[in-house]
Amino acid sequence: AQHFLARGKQHAGLGAYLATDETVTLAQAKEADARLARGDAGPLVGVPVAHKDIFVTKDFPSTAGSKMLEGYRSPFDATVVRKLAEAGMVSLGKLNCDEFAMGSSNENSAYAPVKNPWDTSRIPGGSSGGSAVAVAAGLAPSVTGTDTGGSIRQPASFCGITGIKPTYGRASRYGMIAFASSLDQAGPMARSAEDCALLLSAMCGPDPDRDSTSLDVPSEDFTRALGGSLEGLRIGVPKEFFAEGVTADVRSAIESALQQYEKLGAKRVEISLPRTELAIPVYYIIAPAEASSNLSRFDGVKFGHRAKQYADLLDMYKKTRAEGFGDEVKRRIMIGTYVLSHGYYDAYYLQAQKVRRMIADDFQAAFRKCDVIAGPVAPSVAWSLGGHGGDPLADYLADIFTLPGSLAGLPGMSIPVGFGEGGMPVGLQLLGNYFQEGKLLNAAHRFQ
Ligand code: GLN
Repeated sequence: AQHFLARGKQHAGLGAYLATDETVTLAQAKEADARLARGDAGPLVGVPVAHKDIFVTKDFPSTAGSKMLEGYRSPFDATVVRKLAEAGMVSLGKLNCDEFAMGSSNENSAYAPVKNPWDTSRIPGGSSGGSAVAVAAGLAPSVTGTDTGGSIRQPASFCGITGIKPTYGRASRYGMIAFASSLDQAGPMARSAEDCALLLSAMCGPDPDRDSTSLDVPSEDFTRALGGSLEGLRIGVPKEFFAEGVTADVRSAIESALQQYEKLGAKRVEISLPRTELAIPVYYIIAPAEASSNLSRFDGVKFGHRAKQYADLLDMYKKTRAEGFGDEVKRRIMIGTYVLSHGYYDAYYLQAQKVRRMIADDFQAAFRKCDVIAGPVAPSVAWSLGGHGGDPLADYLADIFTLPGSLAGLPGMSIPVGFGEGGMPVGLQLLGNYFQEGKLLNAAHRFQ
């Protein structure tokens, strides 16, 4: 813990951490030492972890990367945080992210943009950018992230680390500051699939009293899935994941990863996910719709920022929200409110829900032909800070390959498989059917 705290300070310029507290961390480390001395041989006892600032924690402030929650302290820990603490992990602090997890580059954080350690003029990806950078730069051996439309997989890919988003409902959303509740899912990010397997085993499990969408499926020891042969594993490669727009460097890194899998005994199968392109409009209707509803709780009354001067209650709401939220969050609240409003609901929201079901059905058809699906995580390597020139559409389009799996609620991973333009890491995305996390982790582990 001391080592990582010192490295965190040394590399504070990367912007990965939003909050640390040496006293809290070292007290937890002492407790872990005592557990080890008592002979507690749990694999995570004493291992440091840092949490995306979207999880509420009682020992550190929780901001969701927003001015709205500046300095906010939760009276309780998110279930995922509590479970990892109970497994003996030592918390190093809270990690930067896009405001309310809305973004693909971490540039939407209200605090500081996070820099990619492979090239500090580039973005780390988002929204779990601080999480990915903490692992990539050795500021933490393991971290938590959340993935609503790619926020674990895409920053993992851009920073050359491993991350997994489990099946929707596997990990409790209790204490995860809500963005789009039907999509939000927590997962680990670390240096290897093996580390991710250890963390994921401790994170998952039912939480019926606190998250009604958590599934009644016991967690597994995912490390037991590691080590199996890949002989005969059918890897489905969706042709839509190699459409124009995928850069040549990413294409060739993914191609050589697939060849490597064939050498390991896997069989390559061509598949089709015909509604891949539709995932962008569908996601950018559903996620803002849910966000507009979830974020209505930030009204200056119960917690978070409150405007200093106002004429009456309505004026207080307006000023509080105008001051507290950043541009991207406001944009999504407006889009979400619009698509849910009378007269537009059927044309946009309901239509999007129908296409969402069709996207999920496409995956089920594909999984009749293959065991896992593989392709790029993103169409390019990490772009330059400011490279999209503040154009939100450019960010949204880059989510094309992560959104379909999210809309279907499937488990997905990113594993580092090579380097592209400018020596930047390229991640391979692996998608599995529901509850096939073990299969994904094993495929990733064999590759590594
Ligand atoms: N980039 C997507 C968005 O901006 C996904 C974010 C996420 O998964 N939290 O909504």
